[in-house]
Amino acid sequence: MMGNSKEVPFSPTDSFRFCPADGARLGEARASGGTTCPECGRSWYRNSAPTVGAAIVRDAKALVTVRGIEPEKGRVDVPGGFLEVGEHPVDGLKREAREELGVEIEVVGDPVSLAIHNYGEDGIYVLAMGFKARIVDGEPEPADDVAEIRWISSEEVDDLDFAWKHDREFVWAALNDGE
Ligand SMILES: [Zn+2]
Repeated sequence: MMGNSKEVPFSPTDSFRFCPADGARLGEARASGGTTCPECGRSWYRNSAPTVGAAIVRDAKALVTVRGIEPEKGRVDVPGGFLEVGEHPVDGLKREAREELGVEIEVVGDPVSLAIHNYGEDGIYVLAMGFKARIVDGEPEPADDVAEIRWISSEEVDDLDFAWKHDREFVWAALNDGE
């Protein structure tokens, strides 16, 4: 478990039990998943958390990262992370590239990967958006929660220990899009 937490189970799909606005106890969820607060009347929903990932491509190789933190520490993923509230996916990806690699990137086109997966001990639902990207300034150095970076070719994709299989498919797609 992380930090000072106690062993409290939390389902990735159960509705919220208390109103975030006023702390009132919420009733049973409707079939849609929404729960209405008896005090303020607001409806609350559980949603997937949006994340962004970059397949940074240069000279027919893609940059992948080795995770330096849990969950899935030591396994391979791609630069990126959770969006901040109100943040555009492209802005979030540029921010993550600065934080994790110290580089400025540009995003190439529309997302090449959209995937739902479960993350962490609670298995929270994540909506992962993957974009192809290019470095426009700087040379990548691992920082923040990245242990190591590797440039891999299309032939190497199958041999890597990806933490999430959609990242394997995402990186392969970005290396084989005909550009
Ligand atoms: Zn309320």
